[in-house]
Amino acid sequence: MTSTTAAHAADLVAALLFILSLAGLSQHRTSRAGVVYGIAGMALALVATIVVASKSISAGAVALVVLAMALGGAAGLLRARQVEMTQMPELIAVLHSFVGLAAVLVGWNSYLEVEAHGAAQTAVSGDLLGIHHAEVFIGIFIGAVTFTGSIVAFLKLSARIASRPLMLPGKNALNIGALAAFVGLTVWFTVSPGLGLMIAVTVLALALGWHLVASIGGGDMPVVVSMLNSYSGWAAAAAGFLLDNNLLIVTGALVGSSGAYLSYIMCRAMNRSFLSVIAGGFGIEAPSGAAEEQGEHREIRAEEAARQLAQAKSVVITPGYGMAVAQAQHPVAELTRRLRERGVEVRFGVHPVAGRLPGHMNVLLAEAKVPYDIVLEMDEINDDLAATTVVLVIGANDTVNPAAMDDPASPIAGMPVLRVWEAEQVIVFKRSMASGYAGVQNPLFFRENSAMLFGDAKQSVEDILRALDADGPGGTAPAARRTSSADRAGV
Ligand code: NDP
Repeated sequence: MTSTTAAHAADLVAALLFILSLAGLSQHRTSRAGVVYGIAGMALALVATIVVASKSISAGAVALVVLAMALGGAAGLLRARQVEMTQMPELIAVLHSFVGLAAVLVGWNSYLEVEAHGAAQTAVSGDLLGIHHAEVFIGIFIGAVTFTGSIVAFLKLSARIASRPLMLPGKNALNIGALAAFVGLTVWFTVSPGLGLMIAVTVLALALGWHLVASIGGGDMPVVVSMLNSYSGWAAAAAGFLLDNNLLIVTGALVGSSGAYLSYIMCRAMNRSFLSVIAGGFGIEAPSGAAEEQGEHREIRAEEAARQLAQAKSVVITPGYGMAVAQAQHPVAELTRRLRERGVEVRFGVHPVAGRLPGHMNVLLAEAKVPYDIVLEMDEINDDLAATTVVLVIGANDTVNPAAMDDPASPIAGMPVLRVWEAEQVIVFKRSMASGYAGVQNPLFFRENSAMLFGDAKQSVEDILRALDADGPGGTAPAARRTSSADRAGV
């Protein structure tokens, strides 16, 4: 077997490993194995690619490729070690932008190569040339949309720009016009390619990517992240066609289709129309006053919360982004263990878009070794909440907001939420009365059966653990008190 044949066989094995990786990642129990399959597949793919490339390029060029890989690998390793779990979505957005940029560069390189050598002297000639031109154009278009779209997503997720949607007049017409212009330019380029058209499609796609993601905001950002994941897959597949690399085509298609499916699942979970989200801008600007206070809230201290928990028959914990910020998952897992030891039934209710990336809460809870069988999806727990003694809302906000069901004018109207207010008692862990990601106030905080436990979530849970140790189930603690909302705004 020649080394090239071996490399092609390795490509096939790598593709199978990627499929196994996706299958593994679909469940908690198998997710570690999924990651290992993915790493093995990628390592194999890289070695196979270098082996094939070494046949047609000089030793110096191979050395440069290895050097670039070493530098890229070192930078990736360093960044991955430093990144906080809460910064993961931003990092993913940046990585998507690299895939987009790479596809643009591959497209440009492919065009310039064919032009420089003349069609007759390249592998592409005759009828294939028209197809090649279309591939170049489509690859650049998808890549450039992914590139700028991912940069805007990064800026929004890292709060460097506001998350609210950009509302340009006639934004739908702008998007449709850009798509129509792209189709027209592609036909023109296929018939008569030229540098001017290359520049035009690149600029058009860069602007469209920016506008598409800038027009989406608030609660719809999760869909954008998975949609950009899908785009980056299609951009990679387009680059695979240009580079004649089958593995890149297969891998890109896997990422593209799984990202598209994830976006669809998330849209369904959030009661959003998939088409209107990907068409840029289902999100609407929060009406002024949406984040204003809506009455008086009640405060509770850790000692009283501990007493209620110790006396509860059943407890449901609904974690959100704040649990990730506070890194409270370990004390939360410890609290769960202690309460279960006392005979309290404890379960978790995880909203599909809680946190800042799909599966965010599940990863944190798994890291803290919370048993999988007590971590339930929103649909599995929602009907049980009415029969629950205490719900602990730990750093969640938009995902437990009753306005999504009660207020048709709310920017998150229609998004299914955890109906925590149906429980006997709700304790909300957060630092202030500030709003969540979507920027809307939460009427839950002002309900009769809700109490606010202010402070960093990790600190608050640790205080409860201490109070449980000190007081035991029958401990005496200061009673909850009513406080004017204004005292806490924006702490
Ligand atoms: P939210 O973003 O709605 O709210 C998080 C809450 O956590 C805030 O109100 C904040 O209040 C509180 N918080 C922050 N830090 C701490 C801390 N250290 N201790 C205690 N509380 C803290 O979270 P949800 O998870 O409920 O909702 C997720 C939102 O993010 C949704 O709108 C979703 O659409 C969006 N989103 C989700 C993505 C995904 O893929 N899952 C991706 C992108 C966006 P305070 O400041 O007062 O402490």
